[in-house]
Amino acid sequence: MYNDQNVFAKIVRGEIPSKKVYETPHSLSFFDINPTAKTHILVIPKGGYTNIMEFIELASDIEKADFWNHVSFVALKSGVQGNFRIQANTGEKAGQTVPHFHIHIMSNE
Ligand code: AMP
Repeated sequence: MYNDQNVFAKIVRGEIPSKKVYETPHSLSFFDINPTAKTHILVIPKGGYTNIMEFIELASDIEKADFWNHVSFVALKSGVQGNFRIQANTGEKAGQTVPHFHIHIMSNE
């Protein structure tokens, strides 16, 4: 189901560059290449999961703890100062364009 030729899989493998925010053993965050807010960061698991449903069903507890701690860390430490929104587009009809699970953290702070 998961296709490892998507752009985020290539970022995880180091095949294309990204502007990294933070990295843990199982997850990575970087600035969105086409920001729609003053601060626009994407957090992704390094493992191959197409969307949040696959991630919840298939990821290990260690991967899940690592990922959600990463989201919390970025929300608290990226300077968004308590004014931000978090979004996970899921499915093409809902606007998901990259088939590798990711969370958007967006703020105009
Ligand atoms: P979504 O529409 O939820 O799938 O979001 C995908 C996001 O990935 C969009 O906001 C894109 O601007 C962003 N994006 C696509 N390619 C890259 C890239 N190479 N580096 C950083 N962000 C990217």
